[in-house]
Amino acid sequence: MFVDVHNTSALVVGAGPVALRKTRRLIDAGAKVTVIAAKAHNKVQQLAAEKHITLLLRPFEENDIKTAAIVVAATNSIETNRHIATLAKHAGAQVNVANDPAAGNFIMPSLIDRSPLLIAVSSGGASPVLSRLLTARIDAFIPTRFAKLATLAGEYRQQIKSKVDGWRERRRFWEHQLGGQVGELVLQGRQQEAETALQQSIDSYQADGIQGEVYLVGAGPGDPDLLSFRALRLMQHVDVVFHDRLVSKAILDLVKPDAERIYVGKQRSDHAMPQETINEQLVKHAKLGKRVLRLKGGDPFIFGRGGEEIEQLAEHGVAFQVVPGVTAAAGCASYAGIPLTHRDHSQACLFVTGHLKDNTVNLNWQALAQPRQTVVIYMGLVGLKHIVTNLMKHGMPSTTPIALVSQGTTPQQQVVVGSLDTIVERISLSKVKAPTLTIIGEVVTLRDKLNWFHTDSSPNNTQ
Ligand code: SAH
Repeated sequence: MFVDVHNTSALVVGAGPVALRKTRRLIDAGAKVTVIAAKAHNKVQQLAAEKHITLLLRPFEENDIKTAAIVVAATNSIETNRHIATLAKHAGAQVNVANDPAAGNFIMPSLIDRSPLLIAVSSGGASPVLSRLLTARIDAFIPTRFAKLATLAGEYRQQIKSKVDGWRERRRFWEHQLGGQVGELVLQGRQQEAETALQQSIDSYQADGIQGEVYLVGAGPGDPDLLSFRALRLMQHVDVVFHDRLVSKAILDLVKPDAERIYVGKQRSDHAMPQETINEQLVKHAKLGKRVLRLKGGDPFIFGRGGEEIEQLAEHGVAFQVVPGVTAAAGCASYAGIPLTHRDHSQACLFVTGHLKDNTVNLNWQALAQPRQTVVIYMGLVGLKHIVTNLMKHGMPSTTPIALVSQGTTPQQQVVVGSLDTIVERISLSKVKAPTLTIIGEVVTLRDKLNWFHTDSSPNNTQ
């Protein structure tokens, strides 16, 4: 809650260094400050001499509370401070107690001041020092000219409101200006040019100028740190997101908070929304002028049906962008310490789907069973028995190493390693959870040396 305290009467009891800091904050915010203390820090005396505050050099009296809407208790006595807090609360005032946040009813956060833009950081009283450290970091990160940008936006707000109808259009217009040329110009100190550009955009604004767009974004295999910068940027500029089971909560939490979230399922047995409906919905929402995020696990063009979705968009003339993601094979292999190719073991790598169709898996077994290559199987858990049996039947040695990576790259990652003839039994003993990825080939043995990813919740990885 940001409260306007302009011309509000504030009382600070105490005039030491802490009281001084809080007094300055109240002055900056425009409050009319009275400081009461038997003795005052010379800087507090200076503030009084310069007429920024009224200073009363005497002990606090209960009656002093009466006229104050904001009270700061900052004497060096805990009891006195608590007494003042009790009186203030009784009188209906807001009270802040120095070094004792629970005794009062408001705290003063650390501030990054780019007025009219303010960023407040609070640890809820747990650690003011941590708040200040964080404040310093954010402060260094935000150009001072953001203040100018905020002022400019404030000045043009009414004009834009009357020209651009509808909150969605207006928001889009602002995002375009502040995140685009106008913002850039202000941040470079070219204020006049920025104003000219903004005025031109307003004058040439056409009501139907805003087109919807679809972003088909690969969210990677689970770890949010594996998102690309572009994925993250688009995720924070959308009106609606369609996501499925493979997209982790940690990633979904990074999507703009007020974007509408639509779950479209896609578990083996749970197709919350059939593919055709998804395709239609993307078109429909984009045609309403929305920015639509289609968030997919891994990479959208690898076993993701991303191609089908944008085919339909292209047919309807809807603009779209595709953002690649780290595919499960790459993510799981890295986090399991299994290089997919290696000069001594494997010169090729095949990605195949083990998805069952009519209770069988139709793959080119002959090609998969070749030596000196790595085979990665997506969606292969249910058909695993069928797969290993066929590979052995087509000449792959039964001792060939195989790894199953479950929930790869997440804190729950589990890796089960075996050989073609032992893996099915090992899996049945270890209760792995979907999604799982299978990696077959000599490279799996490298995990003994290269396994680096450990988490608290995956201690019992089977070797
Ligand atoms: N487009 C996705 C693949 C979708 S198919 C990509 O590029 O990764 C779904 C299959 O991907 C799952 O059945 C599983 O085999 C694999 N998969 C996706 N994420 C995974 C993860 N975190 N761990 C293990 N396998 C995963």
